[in-house]
Formats: sequence, structure tokens, C-alpha cells
Amino acid sequence: MNIILLGPPGAGKGTQAKILEEKHGLKQLSTGDMLRAAIAAGSEVGLKAKAIMDRGDLVSDDVIIGIVSDRMDKPDIKEGVTFDGFPRTPAQAEALDRMLAGRKQKLDAVIEMKVNDEALVERIAGRFTCAKCGQGYHDKFAPTARPGICDACGGTEFTRRPDDNEKTVRDRLQVYNKQTAPLVAYYAGKGNLHVIDGMADIARVTEAIGAVLKKVKG
Ligand code: ADP
Ligand code: AMP
Repeated sequence: MNIILLGPPGAGKGTQAKILEEKHGLKQLSTGDMLRAAIAAGSEVGLKAKAIMDRGDLVSDDVIIGIVSDRMDKPDIKEGVTFDGFPRTPAQAEALDRMLAGRKQKLDAVIEMKVNDEALVERIAGRFTCAKCGQGYHDKFAPTARPGICDACGGTEFTRRPDDNEKTVRDRLQVYNKQTAPLVAYYAGKGNLHVIDGMADIARVTEAIGAVLKKVKG
């Protein structure tokens, strides 16, 4: 099964994609995580992407489609994928259609997570991640059980993304509204759009996604 979590930065896509990986075996395919890994590795893609990401713009469709296509060929994603942060433009959505068709796969559901802008800014301002295992947290909404210690791996170092500041977040929301929001109509037209309330707490959002998956599995 292949699904897309569609929503603005801070909507909770990464949080839910990780839960789906544990619960349903769907691999999280986060283009943002892939680009950050490329930056950390000092690769050519990373060098090109860094400045664009820091200012909250989109990396070019060619680069993104290339890294997703390579990832889709890896054997560990047989059970299916949760696309997180991809596609972000109509050209990427069309490329994904071709990639899936070429691999005799289909898109089972596009789940739009609706969250209002002020909540997004608050979520992003409080986001932090375990440096060792990548588990995501939030200062207020999803803190570690014991202060300074990762629940998942016991790690004690945490990172905050350089683009998670209020100025860049507002720019990223504008980019989303202009370049990515048209995908809602694109997928509604294909009949696989499901809209859920992303303002609910994490467990309730997980339940709403579970209900969509149950429905599309039939
Ligand atoms: P995205 O991947 O869509 O950018 P994240 O999953 O990283 O968003 O979530 C952004 C921040 O908000 C994280 O710190 C996360 O812990 C927190 N968060 C995620 N879902 C919720 C929710 N339903 N309610 C409150 N906070 C949430
Ligand atoms: P994310 O981790 O999804 O919030 O993405 C962080 C940043 O990576 C974005 O602000 C973009 O600069 C870049 N990025 C991630 N995914 C894409 C994509 N599908 N298309 C273009 N740029 C992307």
C-alpha cells in the first residue's frame, strides 16, 4: 500500500509516518530527511540543497524526482511507502504517477492533514529531534518522558532544524499555499483524497489515518 501524507510544514506528517512504519510496515519516505542526510554527507545534492532549504524554498523538481526514483528501487520498500513531504508540486505529482505506473504499483490514498497556521508555527517552534535515533519531539505537545533523555534510545543529544524559526516557517507556509496546495484539487479529481483534522492530538490523528487505511483496504 502506498499513501501520501499531504499537509503544510508542521502538520504532523513525519510524526504519523513513523507511527505508520511501526504499525503497518509502510516505509517512511521523507524527501526532507533525505536532503538533510545528503547535506550531512556533504554530497553534491546536499551542497545544492542547503541554501535553498535554509531560506524555505523548494529544491528543484529534477533533483527531488531523481532521489525519490532511486529510493523506490530499493528492496526494503516492498510493503509500500508513506510519502512524507513529497510530492510538493504538480510536476512532482505527475512524476510520482509515472514512477508508480512503471513499477506496476498504485497510490491507495492521499490523506490531507488540515492544521491552522498559528498552530503550525507553534508546532514548528517547539520541534526537536534525538540526534542519535531521529525520534521527533515537541517542547509542549510531545516532550520526552524524562527531561533530556530520548524515550526511544536513551540518547541525550537533541537537534533543532536551522529552518525551524518563525521567519522561515512563515515563508514555508507561503510556498506551501502557492506551490503544494494545488495538489489537493489534483488528487480530489482522481478520487483518492481523504481529509482529516490535523488539529487533534497525535493519538487521535493516528486513529483518523487508521480509519482511512481500513476504508481503502476494503
Ligand atoms: P511535519 O513532518 O508535517 O513537518 P512533524 O511531524 O515534524 O510535522 O510535527 C511538527 C511538530 O509538532 C513536532 O514537534 C511534533 O512532535 C508536533 N506534533 C505532531 N503532531 C502533533 C499533534 N497532532 N498535536 C500537537 N503536536 C504535534
Ligand atoms: P521538510 O522536512 O519536508 O519540512 O522539508 C524541508 C525542506 O526540504 C523544504 O523546505 C524544502 O526546501 C526541501 N524539500 C523537502 N521535500 C521537498 C520536495 N518534495 N520538493 C522540493 N523541496 C523539498
